[in-house]
Amino acid sequence: MADRPTTVKCLVWDLDNTLWQGTLLEDEQVSVTAEAREVIAALDSRGILQSVASRNDHDLAWARLEALGVADYLLVPQIGWGRKSDAVRRVGELLGFAAGTLAFLDDEPAERAEVTFHLPEVRCYSPDQLPELLRLAEFAPPTVTSDSRRRRLMYRAGFEREAERDSFPGPDEEFLRSLELRLRISRADDSELARVEELTLRTSQLNATGVHYSDTVLRELCTDPAHEVLVAGLTDRFGPYGAIGVILLAVRPGRWHLKLLATSCRVVAFGIGTVILNWLIDQAARAGVHVVADFRRTDRNRMMEVAYRFAGFAGEDCGCLGELSGAELSGPELSGTELSGTELSGTRGVQRLHLLPSRRELPDTVRVEAPDLSAGPVAGHPAGRSRPASPN
Ligand SMILES: [Zn+2]
Repeated sequence: MADRPTTVKCLVWDLDNTLWQGTLLEDEQVSVTAEAREVIAALDSRGILQSVASRNDHDLAWARLEALGVADYLLVPQIGWGRKSDAVRRVGELLGFAAGTLAFLDDEPAERAEVTFHLPEVRCYSPDQLPELLRLAEFAPPTVTSDSRRRRLMYRAGFEREAERDSFPGPDEEFLRSLELRLRISRADDSELARVEELTLRTSQLNATGVHYSDTVLRELCTDPAHEVLVAGLTDRFGPYGAIGVILLAVRPGRWHLKLLATSCRVVAFGIGTVILNWLIDQAARAGVHVVADFRRTDRNRMMEVAYRFAGFAGEDCGCLGELSGAELSGPELSGTELSGTELSGTRGVQRLHLLPSRRELPDTVRVEAPDLSAGPVAGHPAGRSRPASPN
């Protein structure tokens, strides 16, 4: 009996007449067949990564992949004018996979032959084989775990961590600009609250207090006129990152109290925590209020502390703090909800950092779309105030 073939770790797709029907630079339209979509989604759920080796204009081809809704599935795409074997080799290098675990799918026999010539271990397939691809043993890993299903996201996060390392101590502005980052901050609505909760749960490295807010508590705070629950989403030219940050703000006359800022480690390389802080500080400066931020050191959120200090927050004394440690700590919005349960008893270990805000310039590497909080709590927060009861 033949040995089970080595499972393919990454399938590298050609684009024209392979991943999509048609030739991008010649045809008005290219389209992805239902069959190709099924293969892409199924391989992804099996934890088999996918990439691209295509001779095309990079930006044009990537924009089309995004428009077709398949870009998210593809890691380290190699779209340019070089040899396919070099592109496939590069994919292997970037993912850390040996040639024997790579597969290449291309409609042109000459391209497959070129890859085979230079990389004999890479298994090559024709799009004619798409209907049976999912049934081939090499594309059917013996076990599929929840980690397999998340593998693509984990690799993406890995690349971002690498990027962060490479760009230390400061981000490479030119590179960031090339990403066309768009940060959208908006008031959390019902559909987003679950994601916000998940963020407070998963972002231990970048959670300013290490507190996890439950869905129920967040829902209450959303409808509380004295609170702003904001969610931040990030997009770049490669596609969306989804919800990557959450801000919990208690709005009082003369003082904004930043109770929580948490951002996803997936976007740490972009300095998004600092961008959000500076946006908020600028808003506070316009509103003419002081800002107080809760910070509790955990063994994992050192980076957030750096961001707060770098933004200008300090342990200085101010009249607005006294007021806070008095009445507000026992205020109704804190009682047993915000600092939920086992996570944190009372406010022990929470430092109150203070900032007298000044206008801030937002970086030109990220386009920020956000509501105008400085317009005042009432004018600026109609949804939180007058949200009608659900009719059903
Ligand atoms: Zn103050």
